[in-house]
Amino acid sequence: MDINPKKLELVRNAGRDSGEIDPGCLIGFYFAAHWFPAARNFLPKLTAAYTAINTPQKRLEIVFVSFDRNEDTFEAYSVDMPWLSVPFKNEILRVNLAQKFQITDTFRLVITTPTLQVISPNAIDDIKTKATQAYDYWESISSNVKGFADSPYCEKNHIMTYIDVSTKSKCVYCRYEVIKGWTCLECKISTCMICQEYYSNSTIDEAYKIMCFKSHNMRKVIKINDYYMSRFLNSKYTCRTCNQTPDDGTGLHCFLCIFDMCFNCSKSVCEDKYLAHCPNGHEVLWVYELCAKILEKYERFNFRCETCGESYMGGGAFACLSCEYYVCVPCVKKANTPGV
Ligand SMILES: [Zn+2]
Ligand SMILES: [Zn+2]
Ligand SMILES: [Zn+2]
Ligand SMILES: [Zn+2]
Ligand SMILES: [Zn+2]
Ligand SMILES: [Zn+2]
Repeated sequence: MDINPKKLELVRNAGRDSGEIDPGCLIGFYFAAHWFPAARNFLPKLTAAYTAINTPQKRLEIVFVSFDRNEDTFEAYSVDMPWLSVPFKNEILRVNLAQKFQITDTFRLVITTPTLQVISPNAIDDIKTKATQAYDYWESISSNVKGFADSPYCEKNHIMTYIDVSTKSKCVYCRYEVIKGWTCLECKISTCMICQEYYSNSTIDEAYKIMCFKSHNMRKVIKINDYYMSRFLNSKYTCRTCNQTPDDGTGLHCFLCIFDMCFNCSKSVCEDKYLAHCPNGHEVLWVYELCAKILEKYERFNFRCETCGESYMGGGAFACLSCEYYVCVPCVKKANTPGV
């Protein structure tokens, strides 16, 4: 769901006055319930940090999202809070915010930019360890995430958190050390800014769903050449299925395996059929993981096409696996094109 921070229904003073978030403030969404002891103990610390951070000028707004069981406890708990709350009655908004930030427990502080990009998903620890200095830490992250429209999501759709070189993590895609990038705390993977940007802008092509040799869904990427250039200083887009290099470098890509396939091949794989049979009369069908199977058996990662003799590394082919009979995609495409 789309949540507009400027249009949130918010209240002050235990619901007696309406309120809104000052423009430009970082926002802390505070999910808690009065009956939860850790939340009761944390409140004075948060209040002290909030007051100090906002002196002399307002820089942080907090929005309390109650998990209390009824309106009375909500009022009793929020009356001492110097910040805003979601009205207890607006259960839809409370649930939507919890969903948006993937809250699974009853006690969390999520810090976001003014446009709701997540800066710190577990900011209770930031306040406990850094107190007022937590703001400077969030602010430094905020300036780094500005280039992104939203906090990116990992492959399993978890919100990712900003990290820098101090975490000493490696990008799961390019394998370089992450200087600035993202991490998924749940999947325990990190990505660098460049890989994540191309990943976030890629999509799974529903019409031509193709897997790489390791059974990852390949993703449609515009200008993989530019990605290779900015990440590996080398424009090396080669379709492993036809050995061609499309000029604009646009096609399918597996970020984890650094593996490519052009659109022509993906179309052919999904639409063409090899009508002939292997010498022993078996069907010859598309096998995307062909080279992985060959590697398992022979410690090599390539195969030769029975029809044209060309050698391919890593790509799939139309194959009869039991007879080890392989026909490359360009040859199958040719056989399927009338008049050629
Ligand atoms: Zn990377
Ligand atoms: Zn994840
Ligand atoms: Zn190709
Ligand atoms: Zn892969
Ligand atoms: Zn061939
Ligand atoms: Zn056969």
